[in-house]
Amino acid sequence: MSAHPIRPLPPGSTLGVLGGGQLGRMFAHAAQAMGYFTAVLDPDPESPAGLISHHHIPTGYEDPDGLARLAGLSDAITTEFENVPAVSLAALAGQCPVAPAARAVAVAQDRAQEKAHFVRCGVPCAPYAVIETAEQRAAVSADLLPGILKTARLGYDGKGQVRVPTAAALATAWASVGSVPCVLEKMLPLQLECSVIVARGADGATVHLPVQRNLHRDGILAVTEVYEGNLPPALAQQAVDAAISIAQGLDYVGVLCVEFFVLQDGSLVVNEIAPRPHNSGHYSQNACDVSQFELQVRTLAGLPLVQPRQHSAAVMLNLLGDLWFAHGETAQTPPWAAVLRLPGTHLHLYGKTLAKHGRKMGHLNITAPTAEAARATALQAAAILGIAPF
Ligand code: ATP
Ligand code: MG
Repeated sequence: MSAHPIRPLPPGSTLGVLGGGQLGRMFAHAAQAMGYFTAVLDPDPESPAGLISHHHIPTGYEDPDGLARLAGLSDAITTEFENVPAVSLAALAGQCPVAPAARAVAVAQDRAQEKAHFVRCGVPCAPYAVIETAEQRAAVSADLLPGILKTARLGYDGKGQVRVPTAAALATAWASVGSVPCVLEKMLPLQLECSVIVARGADGATVHLPVQRNLHRDGILAVTEVYEGNLPPALAQQAVDAAISIAQGLDYVGVLCVEFFVLQDGSLVVNEIAPRPHNSGHYSQNACDVSQFELQVRTLAGLPLVQPRQHSAAVMLNLLGDLWFAHGETAQTPPWAAVLRLPGTHLHLYGKTLAKHGRKMGHLNITAPTAEAARATALQAAAILGIAPF
């Protein structure tokens, strides 16, 4: 529990965010729309959130002066990426309300702790072994292979992961990630992937967004589809219940994303959690009456949480830097006008000037009255942009 509990903060207060990426930017937009001031700490002078915030502190995440300035400016502070040092959050919590708490973020930062939490909550996850020593590596059960070796910390978008086909390949795989602490996970036969955004207030009140169905390509989220029938209803309810119990088990305050696998046999397995809004929840900006970023503002400012209502079927297409290169090399501006001519298309760009392959530059939300219409428009938009059909 923070020394500074969250009390309702009126508009006009300043909400701080540790991290200045696109999630911080969209949080700041939502906060500003509701009349809050925002302060961002991020070392990048052109960070997406720093560019649009009232205050930008361009220091490192562990810089004591930077942290003190953020705490001095802010009435409450949140974070926008999970690799923010939990010690920084803990230091800030001594000076001002912080949500989510350092303790919850620390669990999400470490795959071994995360999995232990799933087990505690009784939510099935992939069979796994923690590998921190050569002895543990040598003792790995053959049942876990073929598997995926994931570094316990600092992985994202499929980075820090190596596929391990056989026990013989494990030693090389572990060496290739620098023999850092890892989790070896059994490779599961996936039918599909989905995720749930949960928001939990300091009073324990919990609301959630509808379950998102996600398509990953090369370890990066490519497409999210949310509409009635995207998943069997009983399975969707199971995912929501599991996500809420995971949030409650952490005594979580803020927005939490829980990612799941659905296996070939239809069973649900939790993959990982993100202690913040998530790429798969971006559709809520245009398809729901409360977005995941407004939920983050409400949890941080101690405002009431009401169950969001999805009013439109939605498809979200991630816009990766690859789209800025014609035929894979010549720089180009994607044909926005042609896409925006389609009904129900909503363009979100993060203000990043340098496009790189695989870099998240923005996303396109497509809304429509029906799932069929949303999918048809999304497929048209994808074809115009050069995104493979789904
Ligand atoms: P992000 O942070 O972008 O969500 P990440 O780098 O943390 O990604 P994971 O979510 O662990 O990585 O894995 C990325 C993708 O790899 C998954 O979405 C899934 O498609 C595949 N994957 C991961 N673990 C397994 C597994 N045990 N069995 C089968 N596929 C898996
Ligand atoms: Mg993931």
